[in-house]
Amino acid sequence: MTCLECNKELSYLDHRNAMDSLGVELCSKHQGRMERLVEKNDTPMEAIQLYYGLKEAGVNAMLEWWDGKKSVDIAISRVKLNIEIDTEYHMLTHEQAISDLEEAMHSFKNGFTTIRIPHILIRHYLKETVNNIIGIMEGLRANIKAI
Ligand SMILES: [Zn+2]
Repeated sequence: MTCLECNKELSYLDHRNAMDSLGVELCSKHQGRMERLVEKNDTPMEAIQLYYGLKEAGVNAMLEWWDGKKSVDIAISRVKLNIEIDTEYHMLTHEQAISDLEEAMHSFKNGFTTIRIPHILIRHYLKETVNNIIGIMEGLRANIKAI
């Protein structure tokens, strides 16, 4: 068990604390840093898990990227892909749905693609989710080349 950021060996207690708090393996220093980010942005735990899942697959993503208007859960700037984690999709109101659609419209106009991923997918299918995102990135890259 080592820290996903600095590869420092984790004690049993460090490991348990980080898994309980964030669901990923981090040393106490990096756990603290991440917890401050979560507190500031209300970042879902699954966004952090996906971020590290992508990192492990060699994808350079950014957590809580500020796009000028709002903080995006995860952004992959090379292919202009924004990923939002939906944590309350079961309570989706029509106001929320139209606001999501408008946000998607604005990001498309700025050349960004936004995908929304239900948090349970990350919890149960992290590997498949990462593989699909890599596929989307390849598609976006091919489209960028075509222009
Ligand atoms: Zn660390």
